[in-house]
Amino acid sequence: MNVFLFTDVEGLPGISAMEQIDRTGESYSAVRENITDCIIKTADFCLANGAETVYYLDGHAGGGNVYPDRITNAVKIDKHMCAELLAAGKIDCMMEIGNHARAGTVGGFLDHTMNSGTVFAYKIDGVEQSELSLHALVCAAYGVPTVMCCGDVAACVQAKEYIPDIVTAPVKKAFVRNSCECFENAYEIIKAAVKQALGNYKSIKLMECPVANAEVEITYYRTDMCEAAMQKASCDYVRKDARTLVKKLGKITDFSCYSF
Ligand SMILES: [Zn+2]
Repeated sequence: MNVFLFTDVEGLPGISAMEQIDRTGESYSAVRENITDCIIKTADFCLANGAETVYYLDGHAGGGNVYPDRITNAVKIDKHMCAELLAAGKIDCMMEIGNHARAGTVGGFLDHTMNSGTVFAYKIDGVEQSELSLHALVCAAYGVPTVMCCGDVAACVQAKEYIPDIVTAPVKKAFVRNSCECFENAYEIIKAAVKQALGNYKSIKLMECPVANAEVEITYYRTDMCEAAMQKASCDYVRKDARTLVKKLGKITDFSCYSF
């Protein structure tokens, strides 16, 4: 059994304020420690529960967040390698680490979808998606289930909207968007969730894939943000309104299928 960890930072243990994840800020080195530590510990839990190889993808803001030299119990991969491993049948299940709720979630710590500065909502066939659901759909296209979500309480509750069987590890709770309370026993929670998820990963149902001709709809905060996206777009699309672009999803093969 090989496990793939898709990592983000907002939902990590020990991150409780928006300022902490400012890459130019003083506290960012602590974030790098946090994510590195979380990958090492989670990979250890996976290995103790039957995993042969653990892969991880440093997914926050294009990567460069972890100290890869310190991670000796998991293999670093990028999105391209991930799609290749999925296609080759080398990944058996996926876990989201450090996850956050989709844009527009009450009580979601640092809720956003794809880009916190520009994206108001991202929908597939009218259903709002989260980063977890978008990642899970790529894995599901290869028959690989998303079995665990570690993040804030809202992210964990929301994960079950998409994957009812998913095992969750809530490690913090937000009352307003930009700050939260971290739970002291976060790693006990993650340890138990990994054990439960890997104990019966084959029985955790795949996220349901959209129909072949599904429509993707992205709404930006402002008209100019939509227009900037139109200038960069590399696919056929329709401008539905001032702030919204629509395209056909097509076949899901890798993580690039969502971009315009
Ligand atoms: Zn992030």
